[in-house]
Amino acid sequence: MARQVNPEVLPMPLPVLVRLVNDWGDAPRAVAGKRDDAYPDMPAFRAESAEYWEGFGRLSPGDFTRVANLIRPVFESDSGIECAARLNELMAQARISPEFGADEWTVREVWSAPRQEQLLASAALALIGQFRTDPDAGRLGICMAHDCAGVYVDQSPAARRHYCSLTCQNRSRARTYRARRREPAAS
Ligand SMILES: [Zn+2]
Repeated sequence: MARQVNPEVLPMPLPVLVRLVNDWGDAPRAVAGKRDDAYPDMPAFRAESAEYWEGFGRLSPGDFTRVANLIRPVFESDSGIECAARLNELMAQARISPEFGADEWTVREVWSAPRQEQLLASAALALIGQFRTDPDAGRLGICMAHDCAGVYVDQSPAARRHYCSLTCQNRSRARTYRARRREPAAS
C-alpha cells in the first residue's frame, strides 16, 4: 500500500447505519418515548457484524449518539439539493477524502479520514455507496408511524416504502382501521 497519512475508511453496512441512527439517535428515542431507556447492548450489536467492527477500538454510547445525530438530517432532507448539501457538510466534518492506494501493480481508490472521525466517515461512506447505486434522494426517509421517527433506506423495486419496519407498518394499518371503525356511520 502507498503511504497514507490517515487510515482507510470502510463503509458501514447500511442495516448497521439504520440501526445506529434509530437506536442511539436522540430524536428517534425521544419520539418513541424511550429517551430515558437504556441503550441497546453495544457488544451484542457489534457482534452481529463482527467483521465490520474489527477495525474499531472502544466506542461509547456517546460516540454512537453523536454520529446518529449527525447522520439523521440527511434522511430528513426535503429535496435532492438539501440532501447533497447535508452530505457535503458530513464529508467536511468527517474530513473524509479520496486517495489512491496500491498493492504491487493494482491501483485502487481508497477513502481515508482521521482516526477520531472513523465512525462518522464510515457512516458517510455508506451513504456515498447508496447514492452510487441509486441517486434518488427520496429513497432515504423517516418513518410515517405516529410515534416513530426511525429512518429507513427504501430498497424496494417500487420505491413506496414509508415505514422503518414491518412492525410500524402493521401498527399504522391497525390504527387507521380502528380510527375508521370509531367514525360514526355515514349520516
Ligand atoms: Zn417506524
